[in-house]
Formats: sequence, C-alpha cells, structure tokens
Amino acid sequence: MKTNNNFIDGKWVPSLEKESYPQRNPANFEQITGLWQKSGIGDVEYTIEAAQKAYKHWSILTVHKRAEYLKKALSLMRERVNRIAKVITAENGKTLAESRMEIYSAIKEMEFQISEGLYRLGEVMPSGQDGVLAYCTRRPLGVVAVIAPWNFPFNVPVRKCIPALIAGNTCIMKPAQLTPGTGAEFVRLFEDADLPAGVLNFITGSGAVAGNALVKSPSIKAISFTGSTEVGTNIHKVASENLTRTQLEMGGKNAMVILKDADLEKAAKAASEAAFVCSGQWCTATSRVVIEQPVLDDFLTLLIENVKKIVVGDGVRPDTGMGPVCGEAQLESILSGIEKGKSEGAKIVVGGGQLKDGDFQKGFFIEPTIFTNVTPDMYIAQEEIFGPVLSVIAVDDFEQAINIADNVRFGLSSSIFTNDLERAHKFIEQTDVGLTHVNISTAYKEPQLSFGGIKQSGFGIPEAGHTGIEFFTDHKAIYIKYKP
Ligand code: NAP
Ligand code: MG
Repeated sequence: MKTNNNFIDGKWVPSLEKESYPQRNPANFEQITGLWQKSGIGDVEYTIEAAQKAYKHWSILTVHKRAEYLKKALSLMRERVNRIAKVITAENGKTLAESRMEIYSAIKEMEFQISEGLYRLGEVMPSGQDGVLAYCTRRPLGVVAVIAPWNFPFNVPVRKCIPALIAGNTCIMKPAQLTPGTGAEFVRLFEDADLPAGVLNFITGSGAVAGNALVKSPSIKAISFTGSTEVGTNIHKVASENLTRTQLEMGGKNAMVILKDADLEKAAKAASEAAFVCSGQWCTATSRVVIEQPVLDDFLTLLIENVKKIVVGDGVRPDTGMGPVCGEAQLESILSGIEKGKSEGAKIVVGGGQLKDGDFQKGFFIEPTIFTNVTPDMYIAQEEIFGPVLSVIAVDDFEQAINIADNVRFGLSSSIFTNDLERAHKFIEQTDVGLTHVNISTAYKEPQLSFGGIKQSGFGIPEAGHTGIEFFTDHKAIYIKYKP
C-alpha cells in the first residue's frame, strides 16, 4: 500500500520521523484507505521555515493576484466534487450525498471569502483635521496554523485557510488523524492551481505531537482550531505563552425549542434532519428538543415516523440515509453516553444500540436514538454526545423552555419553532448562543454570516462570513497630511 506524504514547500515529502499510520474506513475497518505520515517536531519546524520564506513573496502580491490563484483552485473544486466526496465518505463515513453537501457548502464559502478579500482590506475614515487623510489597512500576520477536525474535514479547512490566504498569510494545515486523505484532496487543488511553493502546507500526524508543536511555536502568528472544548481550551493556554491569537470553534449542546403553536410537521422534519444528518456528528446538530408538554405526544409521533425511515448503512450505497460514526473511539463514547442516559432513567423510544449483524459487523454503526423523559440535569441533557442521539425534554411553559435551553455550559446554536413573533424575539434576545434560528433548524447557516459560539463553545473572533478575514489580519491606522 502506498504511503502518503506531507505537502511542504510545494513538494510531497515523507516526515523526518519515517513513521506512518493507517487510516481505516469506518464502514469497514478492515479496509485501510491509506498510510499517512506521523509528523514530528522537526517536520513542523521545517514547514514553518518554508511558510516564512513564502510569506515574503505572497504577502506583497496584489490581492487580485492572490485571488487569481484561489479562483483557479475553486474552479478545480467545482470539477472534483464527486472525487472529493468519495474520499470524505471513505474516511468519515457520512453518505455521499452528505459529502457532496459539505463540498457545495465549501464552494459557497470560498466564493464569498475571495470576494471579501477583494474589497474588505481597509477602510477610509473622515479625518477631524482639514488636509488629513485618515485610513486603516488590514495587514496579514505571517505564518498561521489551521487545526481541523474529522467531522467536516473539507469544509473546515476551506473556511479557515481561504480568508487566511486571501489576506496574504501563509498557512500550515493539520488535518485530524482520522481524515488525512480529505485534507490532501483540499491541498491538491492548490498544487494543481500552481499556488507558489510554501504558501499552503499540509502535515499529518497526531494532535498531541504535530498539533502541539504548531501551537507552541512563537513563529506561528495565529491558530484557528475546530474541535473539542477540552483540546481547544488547552491550545489557548499553550498559545497564550507567546501571545499567539486563537480562534476556537468547539462543542455544542444545541436546543430546538418547540412551542405549542408551532407547525409540528415542520418541526419534526427539522429535528430529525438536524439530529441525525452526518450521524449527529456536527457541532450545530440538534441534540436537545425542549417542547411544551401539551404537544409532546403529537410531536413524538411525527418525529418517530421520520426517524424510522432513516436507512443506516455504508455511505457509498445510494439508499443509505445515515452512515457509520467516525471510528472506534467515537463509537465507544456515543455508546457510553447512551448507557448514561439509560442509567439515569431516561426512556428510549427509538434505537438505542449498536448495529452489529451482517454488513454492520465490520463497521461502527449506531441506530438513530431518541430519549424521552429526559430531565435537564441528566448527562444526556448537559453533555455533547456527538452522535445520532436526541434528548427530548418536556416543559410546562415558554419561560421554563428558555431557562432549560440556556442552562448548559455550551453556547453554539439554538432554534425555536413558533408562530408567536413576540416569543420568538424574546428567545433570540435571551439565549446565549453564537447563532440562533426561528422556524429553521439549529444546523442552518449561510456563507456571508460569521460562525462561532460563545461560553464553552467558542473563543476569539468568529470564523467565516463577514468576520472571516478579521481574525487573520492586524489593523494599521494611517494619517497623511497633504496640505501644508
Ligand atoms: P479534537 O479531538 O479536539 O481534535 C480536533 C483537532 O485538534 C484534530 O486535528 C486533533 O488532532 C487536534 N488536536 C488534538 N490534540 C491537540 C493538541 N494537544 N494540540 C493541538 N492540536 C490537537 O476534536 P475532534 O474529536 O476531532 O472533533 C469533535 C469535536 O469538534 C466536537 O466536540 C465538536 O463539537 C467539535 N466541532 C466544533 C465545530 C464548531 O465549529 N464549533 C465544528 C465541528 C466540530 P488528532 O486528530 O490527531 O487528535
Ligand atoms: Mg478527538
């Protein structure tokens, strides 16, 4: 089997460690999709040097020239949707349709970030003095690091690297160990677009070694991370030693509140999608439904009807609605979450276990699972399960719904289903989250709006959208006296 290399300074090269690890298909763990470099500290140092060298040239190109390279990579991305989708599905397990959806979303974000770079790199302000021109420019920082997760292994690198690159930074991307091939597909787009050597680099390996070496380096000027709250918090601590700025996109425990006047059919459809698409492994997945008691039974009937239609299987099969979860550690952690729910007295109304028979025996498959009789203090009501598990919490009224929705350590996304505009508005104002929705699921987003959580879900300037470039630039204020 071919061993895949790092991409450093425009070349595919093995790591100095000369060690590799296998990536396995979560739908069939006997299938190794590739061998990848276990990069060490030396590889990171060498990559930083290459990126620093490239920065000298890349940062002084006109933004239009930088955009030309990126647009060429974007057009290759459009051509390669099916090819990239196959790699995402083989590594992450999500269905081919979900993988394509991830790439289409990345295309939209890339289009938006390139156009942002073309007009958002400064501002002219009216001066208080006659004959003075006052303006502010945005300057790139230098070499920046992108640390990506396995759940959106293509979209997240796009969302982070494109604003960094268009603004004139050079970039080192470390994918999650579970999804290196997807990261390599991303990087090949730029190689094939003839991006100058060293501008975008790619090193595989563990977070604890390669990731940590990036985070500790004083030569890295910014770190954009997506992953768990625990790892993100630690990255911030280590990076703060050098005053390196961080942008952390982390976990969620997103609530969908359903009031008794809501359109229950639409709410049930939205909940079943946002809880089980990508096997529930998205940070903005709906993991709690908080619903007024009088409509609980009708809603559950509709929800269960939707969820029972989900066909679990290998994501490459056209009839599959939900693929495996991404790897053994994920499987164990989700199953242990389900066990905690059972032992704390919640009731399973759909699913609840691992699928092990026949075609399922070589993969990591879990049934879509719904818990009812959930109380707000239970583990499954407080902690991110990050799998196909939905907790339904019944409440007496709107005030109680708001309190429960907010009473978690996370603050990423939320949603309310109601036709009562006054209550919807109160919900928007009072819930502590980075994004919220009315009559749309917690997972909905558009490329022009920034994306990020608060509380334990996010830190730093939110990524993507209209703040995408901000994180990767400094401001410089300039005053020119043009009249004597
Ligand atoms: P993770 O374990 O935190 O890993 C994320 C990335 O950090 C991986 O590339 C990982 O490398 C790396 N890493 C691990 N330890 C590190 C260290 N000490 N220093 C530097 N880097 C390190 O998270 P995950 O398990 O991949 O992803 C699941 C989590 O991501 C969930 O909590 C989910 O909510 C969150 N997420 C959040 C968003 C958002 O935008 N808010 C989006 C998607 C996912 P290895 O793979 O080698 O460990
Ligand atoms: Mg992890």
